[in-house]
Amino acid sequence: MLELHLKKPRELELRESGGQPFIKDDEVKIKSIYGGICGSDLSVFKGKLNHATYPVRPGHELLGTIIEKGEDVTYDIGTRVVIAPNTFCGECEYCLQGKLNICLNKQSIGINADGGFAEEFVISSKYILQVPDTVTDKKAILIEPLSVIVHALKKAQLNRTSSVAIMGCGTEGMLAAALANHLGANVTVTDINPLKLDLVRKLGDIKALRPEEISGETFDVVIEAAGVKETFEQGVQLIKPGGAMILIGMAREANFPVSHVVRSEVTIYGSIIYNFPFDFSESLEYLSNSEFYIDPIVSKIVPLADYQQAYEMALSGNYGKVVLDFKEGNRT
Ligand SMILES: [Zn+2]
Ligand SMILES: [Zn+2]
Repeated sequence: MLELHLKKPRELELRESGGQPFIKDDEVKIKSIYGGICGSDLSVFKGKLNHATYPVRPGHELLGTIIEKGEDVTYDIGTRVVIAPNTFCGECEYCLQGKLNICLNKQSIGINADGGFAEEFVISSKYILQVPDTVTDKKAILIEPLSVIVHALKKAQLNRTSSVAIMGCGTEGMLAAALANHLGANVTVTDINPLKLDLVRKLGDIKALRPEEISGETFDVVIEAAGVKETFEQGVQLIKPGGAMILIGMAREANFPVSHVVRSEVTIYGSIIYNFPFDFSESLEYLSNSEFYIDPIVSKIVPLADYQQAYEMALSGNYGKVVLDFKEGNRT
């Protein structure tokens, strides 16, 4: 079987591998369908993620079919599943409080443990979730990034009277825009790339602006999804008094206007990944709903053999989600 192998930053190759010869009682072997390339995959590729380890098999946004299973696994062979790519120990202080997303012993596959950009991979059945037939492959591949948004938006109760600004139109920003719009909020997004703004406009009645075009307006909820110092600093000024900001981007640092935050009594939340399976199950409900429109977000599906082109497209920042296609018949 073929797998991607990142020897060290920027040294990515497609190689033949024997795969994992046997699986443990709780594990499944998955035959890959799609793999989404994420911003963090690009950071690992570039050597810019501190907790990444090398060599590593990249990939954590994964959809596939069970082809083998250990004795303790209750799923059937042939079940289509998505993967929760962050492990949790179930025993630390935070796991015991149900906050699996901040587990002290968390590992992230594709970053500091081998991921799933391979024709086949093995994983504990603890980290898989069945995808119902109502959700297409192209939608299902967005479940992991969507779960990040489902988790983040729980910090704020969005409704038809809410105004929301989303800073940054990567996949997370676009999914946040789509979900906030679906929930009835009045949505404005910003990005410096006009191609991204055009893409977001396809998602519905969403105002898409360059950052400097927002002036004089304030919002009940501001979501920072660009991970840039400047967007945090601009965003914090855009929160209505009594409103909230949710940070999902990870700028290393930024200036924090303490007196403004205090005087306006705004709340600033950090939000990291999701709780599995709850946030994933909720994402599946949205993805099953034909009125939740996200089709333009997956903008390229590329055969595994053309992985270099796929990474280049993702690195260009000009596309929505770029997805690797692992299905047979795509070898060139
Ligand atoms: Zn991701
Ligand atoms: Zn834990």
